[in-house]
This record gives sequence, structure tokens and C-alpha cells, in this order.
Amino acid sequence: MSRDTRPSDHVVELVTARSGGACEGRTGCPNLAAEIHHRTGRQMGGSREAWINEPSNLMHLCCDCHRWVTLHPTDGRRLGWLVRRGVEKPIEVSLYRRGGLVLLDDSGGWEPTDRAPVTVHHSTCECGVKSPPQHLVDFLDHWEDEHVRDCPRVVPSRWDDVLEVWEYPRFPEFERTEEPEQVAADRWRPTVHSTALPRAAGTWHTHWRNP
Ligand SMILES: [Zn+2]
Ligand SMILES: [Zn+2]
Repeated sequence: MSRDTRPSDHVVELVTARSGGACEGRTGCPNLAAEIHHRTGRQMGGSREAWINEPSNLMHLCCDCHRWVTLHPTDGRRLGWLVRRGVEKPIEVSLYRRGGLVLLDDSGGWEPTDRAPVTVHHSTCECGVKSPPQHLVDFLDHWEDEHVRDCPRVVPSRWDDVLEVWEYPRFPEFERTEEPEQVAADRWRPTVHSTALPRAAGTWHTHWRNP
């Protein structure tokens, strides 16, 4: 027995009404919507979570935009077209829809927001040095460990032969902050170059449009 993992007919109607039959993907996409894209993917064997097939997790895309996001998962996450399972629910994560930043709801509606899909994290040392933005908070541990080697506030006292680490008289204070990633909407405009000829493998490419 196979599980039916598709959205219900009712949900497909809601998403189709939201799109108006036009692709909800990249800015200025001229194509008709042809496929339902899941922002958080269905798992093998189907999904137990009902929200997987709710409108907030679904985008009505043309084949080009759908294929593009499949091939560019990192950029897809920065656009909110992909949402990592288990971190946040898609209904809470904004996305760039036709170039506009929006939150989707589960009744087929959407509203503008200014909160970017991805949050970036910074660590600032008491010496004033600020880390580069990190998409994964875990990377801040690594940055802080690296920073204390050069931090002017820290003078290693002695090498511990047993543990094979420098002993520090004290560790500097770090302040961690997070903020939505600021992205110019125009920068996140994938363009799809396709020839008018029938497509063979490798005849088309996608990339971000340069600002
Ligand atoms: Zn499209
Ligand atoms: Zn420092």
C-alpha cells in the first residue's frame, strides 16, 4: 500500500488561486505555473506532518524555476524557497515570491514582510572585532576559538603539555547577535537562459542576475 503524499485537491485549488496560474518563483518569470514545489520536502514514504501539504509549504512554480531550486539548494534556502526540516515551520519563514518578500498562510493568502528568510549570526569580541555573518550559529564557536589566538586582550600564559593547548589567563567576553540577512530583492533574481530549441542535457544554465 502506498501513501498518498500529494496535497489534497482543495489545497491545490487554494495554491492555484494564489498563483493565478502564473509562476510564483523568480522576479518577472513569464511562465505559467506547472508544478507544486514543497519548501520543506516530503520524506521517503510520505509525510506524517499535515503542514507538509499545506499552502504555506507550497509554491506554484514553472518547470524552469522548479528545476532551478532543485539544482541550487543553498540559494534556494536564502530565498526561502527551501526550508530546512526541523528548524522552523515554513509558515514562519518568509520567501521571495516574484521578487517580493512575503509570508504565506495556510488559507491561500500571503502578506508582505521585511524579515528575510535567513537569519545571520555575529559574534563581537570585547576587543571590538566582529565576526563575519554566519548562517549556522555553530560556526561562531569556531570563529571565537580562532579569534582568541590573535585577540589583543588575550595573552596566552603557558603551553599545557598534557592537554596540548595554550592556557589563557582569561577568556574574553563575546556578545552574540542575530539579525535577518539583508538582501536586496533585486539581487535574488535568478534568470534562466534557455534556447528556443528543444532542450538537451546541458544546453541551458541558470545563474543569479548581476545587480
Ligand atoms: Zn518560473
Ligand atoms: Zn578580541
